[in-house]
Amino acid sequence: MAVKPGVSKEEAKKKLQALITMKTKQRMIEESMKNIKYKIGVISGKGGVGKSTVTANLAVALANKGYKVGIIDSDFHGPSIPKILGLEDEKVLVTEDKKFVPVEGPLGIKVMSIYYFLPDPTTAVIWRGPLKKSFLEEILASTLFGYLDFLLIDLPPGTGDEAINLVQTLPNLTGLIAVTQPTEVSAISVAKSIDFAKKSGVRVLGIVENMSGFLCPVEKKVYRVFPGNGGQMLSDKYSIPLLGRIPIDPNIAGSADKGEIFLIKNPESPFTIEFNNVIERLLRVLKELNG
Ligand code: ADP
Repeated sequence: MAVKPGVSKEEAKKKLQALITMKTKQRMIEESMKNIKYKIGVISGKGGVGKSTVTANLAVALANKGYKVGIIDSDFHGPSIPKILGLEDEKVLVTEDKKFVPVEGPLGIKVMSIYYFLPDPTTAVIWRGPLKKSFLEEILASTLFGYLDFLLIDLPPGTGDEAINLVQTLPNLTGLIAVTQPTEVSAISVAKSIDFAKKSGVRVLGIVENMSGFLCPVEKKVYRVFPGNGGQMLSDKYSIPLLGRIPIDPNIAGSADKGEIFLIKNPESPFTIEFNNVIERLLRVLKELNG
């Protein structure tokens, strides 16, 4: 490396070392991800819209169809995938050569979550941007997922560029799924993320509108709760397919709290039926992408 005037040999050596480390990490990520067919990030504009619920249920619906599925839960602010899938008491094992063995969940879903690295679930950890990036890089480079048809990445919520910057660490990212509620407030914040994704050259595969009405457990009818048509609005504005509209089902939150898999236990519920529709539409989008 040519040493510019004003740069000491020591500094140049450090820079070179950092470059080698970065390249090595990138190669490790490529190596560890090479047997994963589709890598899909799940984003939302705001917290609490059901991004993790959608990620977990997409994984279950896909695994239920026989696909091999993994999840990376990189929601630094509230990693909830282990709770939703009833895997809170599990542990990530570390092999002698410092690789992570993901937790095996229902239907063989392989789960890697930041949750497993926190001292306890209620501890607030202050994550700085670079720390988040290097943590995700470490997980991507060192987790033994093996062959997967789908790897879903539950990304931190936010309208900013953070989630998308993180996702760009992934080689050959297939694209993103954006989760919104029907309300304009939710849709506007997701619109910012979609806009940023498009500008960064990241494909948005589809939109899932969550909490689209309330499913009355007695009358089995869906009532509108939130105003707005956020999913359709985003779909029209950005020409991105609306993959589905998931109703509110009060049993979902209860099941998640108990770690029960609602989708498997309730195959006839409108929630399950709509998730299966989302999967069918997503598979169609992927088929079109592959020509
Ligand atoms: P986010 O990941 O966007 O922060 P979560 O997936 O953690 O949101 O969902 C927030 C809360 O809303 C959870 O208690 C979850 O069980 C509940 N929830 C999400 N989607 C639904 C739904 N369609 N019906 C009922 N409850 C839901």
